[in-house]
Amino acid sequence: MKRNTIIEYLSAPDAKAIFKEADRVRREQVGDKVHLRGLVEFSNACGRDCEYCGLRRSNKAVKRYRMNIDEIFMTAVTASRLGYRSLVLQSGESCQYSTDDICCLLRRIKSELGVAVTLSMGEKTRAEYAAFREAGADRYLLRFETSNEELFTRLKPDSSYVERMRCLQWLRELGYQVGSGIMVGLPGQTLEMIADDILLMEKLELDMIGIGPFIANPLTPLEGSASGTLELTLRALALIRIITKNTHLPATTAMGSIDKEGRQKALQCGANVLMPNVTPTKYREHYQLYPGKICIQDKPSGCVLCITGMVRKLGRTIATDKGHSFKFPVSDGD
Ligand code: SAH
Ligand code: SF4
Repeated sequence: MKRNTIIEYLSAPDAKAIFKEADRVRREQVGDKVHLRGLVEFSNACGRDCEYCGLRRSNKAVKRYRMNIDEIFMTAVTASRLGYRSLVLQSGESCQYSTDDICCLLRRIKSELGVAVTLSMGEKTRAEYAAFREAGADRYLLRFETSNEELFTRLKPDSSYVERMRCLQWLRELGYQVGSGIMVGLPGQTLEMIADDILLMEKLELDMIGIGPFIANPLTPLEGSASGTLELTLRALALIRIITKNTHLPATTAMGSIDKEGRQKALQCGANVLMPNVTPTKYREHYQLYPGKICIQDKPSGCVLCITGMVRKLGRTIATDKGHSFKFPVSDGD
């Protein structure tokens, strides 16, 4: 699809037709099964100062926590007992775990639980990514946030666009299944930029693409900015499905946080993945990238029931395999 066509669809008076087409492409390319990834937010400590994020280091109002390695492992055990065959371990950046500790954790999870593991810990050195991969990490999520270098630099003043892109390249070279994505509705972001983001996603041949609306956080410099809308986020999601075909696309928590039907709507216009939270309840309130985040009072077991009910109500089923990439198939017993 050409850039101009994407822009037209993003701004069309009505999006019913692209939503319907995205749902059709989703069914044809990745089927009716919804893949679950249990999300463990293991630390909110962060050394970066991204303008949009509640975990930025300048936000002194956040109570910082770092789960220890045993606690993270026990959370993975709980998730595995709840039936999850794929976990995402997410944290702030430079949250002060040694590479050895993370590698020990990965080896233990892989050998004792056998689940697929996705890391989302931000930018690391190539050697660290290599060590994590060697220890068993299957996938890595690192959103490029926006493909517009100037906007990137404004919103992530202590990061470099070129370095983030280099990280994505390394992850690919090291054999990870690679996930990336953007926020929709960032202050200063135009429809042209979103079209460029989508074209970049296509070019990177990503295995997973996570997008969500930007939600203005009152504890950040972007306090008072307008948040992104669910409508525009769903349009971008639908176009990503149509253009990138067999990518794993989550109905994200941010979509569910700005609209109580957000994730259900996303599953009906392209999404095929859900990421239920398995973080111990006592930490959830402290992992607020944005305000109004759903499920912060819930228990992991409650989230399973809610999610399975949601999937069933939509006439879909839950996948029982590990949900590896559809693009670059992995042989892993299933
Ligand atoms: N520290 C890691 C992973 C945790 S942040 C990293 O930055 O990559 C995970 C994602 O949360 C970010 O990539 C960003 O896209 C999203 N995020 C942060 N602040 C947000 C906000 N205010 N609204 C919506 N999404 C946000
Ligand atoms: Fe830290 Fe990630 Fe938030 Fe940036 S987006 S402040 S790197 S947790």
